[in-house]
Amino acid sequence: MAHIKLQNIVKRYGDVTAVKDFNLEIEDKEFVVFLGPSGCGKTTTLRLIAGLEHPEEGDILIDGQRVNDLSPADRDIAFVFQFYALYPHLTVYGNIAFPLKAVKVERSEVDRRVKKVASILQISEMLDRKPSVLSGGEMQRVALGRAMVRQPKVYLLDEPMANLDAKLRVDTRAELKRLQHEFGATTIFVTHDQVEAMSLADRIAVIHQGVLQQIGTPHEIYNSPESLFVAGFMGMPTMNLLGAELGLREGHPALRLSHTDIWLPLPPQQQAKLTAAVERNGLVFGIRPEHIRAALEPGERRLAADVHLIEPLGSANILDLRLGTAAETQDPILLRVRTHPTFRAAVGEKVWFDFDPGQTRLFDRQTEQAIVL
Ligand code: ATP
Repeated sequence: MAHIKLQNIVKRYGDVTAVKDFNLEIEDKEFVVFLGPSGCGKTTTLRLIAGLEHPEEGDILIDGQRVNDLSPADRDIAFVFQFYALYPHLTVYGNIAFPLKAVKVERSEVDRRVKKVASILQISEMLDRKPSVLSGGEMQRVALGRAMVRQPKVYLLDEPMANLDAKLRVDTRAELKRLQHEFGATTIFVTHDQVEAMSLADRIAVIHQGVLQQIGTPHEIYNSPESLFVAGFMGMPTMNLLGAELGLREGHPALRLSHTDIWLPLPPQQQAKLTAAVERNGLVFGIRPEHIRAALEPGERRLAADVHLIEPLGSANILDLRLGTAAETQDPILLRVRTHPTFRAAVGEKVWFDFDPGQTRLFDRQTEQAIVL
């Protein structure tokens, strides 16, 4: 059992506030990923939970017990850091067994647990080797094994796969997910890799500049971003975010994409929800590249645009369509579209596109928050 609650946590280093009024509840057995750009406060928050740092304000509760004043050793937490440090003079067996020997677990029990963990991690045949003859991925597994053998209430993993090559990362990711289900321990995993976050998490906590931006399932974070930051951070490529304003088109309320001739219909019931404040602050229109359909011919409801750039990715093409030109900067207003790899269009050619209105999002430009219509 381990339910974790962070209440109004603030952590400062001199003038830098690394964690700002952080509130989060993590359920027992949940796998939560802290995701955000470098320096956003992920590691600091993890270290606060571990007891390696102390908050200036707020409380940390594990299973309802305030642990602010407990030492790391008394919190029953195991952590694995990006730069794992194995004991070079001990074998793999000795490294994994180390935390158990330190708390004087009986020898036969140590042996049973080490062998079980080694079998799960598929390193049984390496138990007699020294770390110096292991690959990076194998060392990473030993570091994970050393954390797992303790069977703690909570695992804190700080970019534990950062040193693995791409293929091993994918394999280890799948294994880690399986293991977490098997062990059923509450896990917090830090990464700045959104694919890792999407594939591992029960819920993702997106953090930016020390502030928790959004917490939700991968589906919620990807499909219903609550802020411009989350919308602009998730996805490859990320969501198209274009300035927009309200107006009347042929007597009907409509949304015009700024510096373009593109008008989007806005049903009256939706317009009613766009308050005066939102209208004054300005709007940002969002749509993901995969929710836009490109075509080589005109058609009903299709809009025309010139192809500005094409990026062939193998499994898809990314097209940048030019919708207009910003008056002040003369920068092109671009819309990114993901197409099938067989979609053939040349730079400078005219193409047509339309999109599913159900997949669009609107944001208040000033508050940067989503407007739920
Ligand atoms: P990364 O992905 O690069 O590891 P992060 O999201 O984990 O980044 P943190 O390491 O938590 O970010 O750092 C958050 C902020 O706090 C940064 O601005 C960092 O420079 C600052 N910071 C972290 N630790 C210290 C420290 N010991 N002393 C001073 N500033 C610190």
